[in-house]
Amino acid sequence: MFLVIGLMIAVGAAAFVAMPLLSPESAASPSLPVDVTPLADLKRRRLVVYENLKDLEFEYQAGKISSQDYQSLRQNYLDEAATLMVASQEAEQVKETDAFLEREVAARRASRKAPPPQDYICPHCGFENPVPVKFCGECGAKIGSSGY
Ligand SMILES: [Zn+2]
Repeated sequence: MFLVIGLMIAVGAAAFVAMPLLSPESAASPSLPVDVTPLADLKRRRLVVYENLKDLEFEYQAGKISSQDYQSLRQNYLDEAATLMVASQEAEQVKETDAFLEREVAARRASRKAPPPQDYICPHCGFENPVPVKFCGECGAKIGSSGY
């Protein structure tokens, strides 16, 4: 029982910790430039974390911070990097799903937008009418066998 409660608290705490990382993102996004996608932003933040890790490594090598501080800070950065990694994998999946849906919609639109060519091209004068018509816009001949 204690284990379950402990687990729930741990999950809750993880969500709570992740929240400040995620929520300002969605709140700030309308004012962001169009080319800054959430995915690009996540990648940028991950790079920042890696930069910080490198700096930390350097400072530790230079003897500026204690081994204990180094270990705990390093763990923080690694945790953050892992969180960002998961978030950007999720964003990537969303993006792929969007791309798939866009392709589907485009394919459906294309198939719907392409009526049989006999509704466009006049068999009498060969004029290609810009829209499907019953009678040719050029010579007035009847176009299409269907009861349009
Ligand atoms: Zn015609």
